[in-house]
Amino acid sequence: MSALAIVPGEIINLFQEHFRTGATPVVYRAPGRVNLIGEHTDYNLGYVFPIALDMACYVAIAPAQHGKLRIYSRDVNDEFALDVREIQAAMPQKKWHDYVVGVARELVSVGMTIEAADICIISQVPAGSGLSSSAALEISTAVALLGGRNMKPLDIALLGQRAESGFVGMPCGIMDQYASVFGHAGAAIQIDCRSLEHEYVEIPEDVRIFAVNSMVKHELGTSAYRDRVAECQAAVAAIQEIEPEVRSLRDVPLALFARIQESVPLTPRKRARHVISETQRVLDFAAAARANDLREMGRLFIASHRSMQYDYEITSEEIDFLVDTAIKVPGIYGARMTGGGFGGCTVNLVAPESASSFRQALTTAYEERFHITPAFYDCKPAEGAGPV
Ligand code: ADP
Ligand code: MG
Repeated sequence: MSALAIVPGEIINLFQEHFRTGATPVVYRAPGRVNLIGEHTDYNLGYVFPIALDMACYVAIAPAQHGKLRIYSRDVNDEFALDVREIQAAMPQKKWHDYVVGVARELVSVGMTIEAADICIISQVPAGSGLSSSAALEISTAVALLGGRNMKPLDIALLGQRAESGFVGMPCGIMDQYASVFGHAGAAIQIDCRSLEHEYVEIPEDVRIFAVNSMVKHELGTSAYRDRVAECQAAVAAIQEIEPEVRSLRDVPLALFARIQESVPLTPRKRARHVISETQRVLDFAAAARANDLREMGRLFIASHRSMQYDYEITSEEIDFLVDTAIKVPGIYGARMTGGGFGGCTVNLVAPESASSFRQALTTAYEERFHITPAFYDCKPAEGAGPV
């Protein structure tokens, strides 16, 4: 159910076997995350509310004499090598190693020297499921390449984001990398994506958080993500005609939006309505968490899902089915899709005594409907990136 614990020994053995070396690497980890609420609000400079997971990406690194960065990922069973003198001029290749090379390139551009090294990667974060295996990979690579060198945590997060948006080519917000850096055991991270400050908010103890993997990821994801970014910009442009000081959807309170929404063309209007209401839901969710009000937290989950389903239009048949099935199970406070969309995972607030009936009911119904067995992840807030 929960991911395999990776003892540093396992990755060290793999490192030595793969690279046929007796060198002892240093091991770093960076977690994936599950976003509890606040979807697609990060690039609109609103609030998000993720927890870092105990599922993490591990990177073992040791200096080498061959003049290259040799990067091996067990998860894709592939190796890529690049001369360290060519890092800065490297071009994206639309491959998994773009994430790693993108990070190395960002480090070089801020003046960090990258010496030749062997790098071995093992991740527990399922890729492409909305739990941010990409940020876990970027941030674990960044801390590994930094070694002991000092860099502000926020700068590490920003550098990972730049690697993903500028090099990999995914115009992502800051949430995933931020959560991977600033994760905290026992708490969610309320991030203000404009000021880039955060607050830790404790999650009530009498609830369990399950991510449920639909095991389906629709290809549409990346192009639709770009479309949503552009549609939000179109909404801002239309609003600026009336309110010139508005810079992002973060600047538009719900009451103002209600007054002027007719001036925004239909599709951008629906996207803006999601983003603006979702930003408010993050604040309401944090207040409900602080008040131990699980019913209200669950209500906000469902409202968030409906907003993604009907206004942002980023859910899928499988995901809607998982949510609709979950919220009928007794003891489930709420369910919603988490992550970028078009498949991936839902996140569920579950009364502890209902955990097994929840898994049973969802597995049976999903198998019957789609002939797929969903995976369950018991999400416990964990610490952010660092040495192991
Ligand atoms: P998510 O971040 O939700 O898991 P993304 O599409 O953003 O989904 O990132 C998934 C991609 O990140 C994978 O397709 C792969 O290219 C890369 N990736 C993540 N983890 C690993 C890994 N352990 N080894 C190699 N590539 C990885
Ligand atoms: Mg990602």
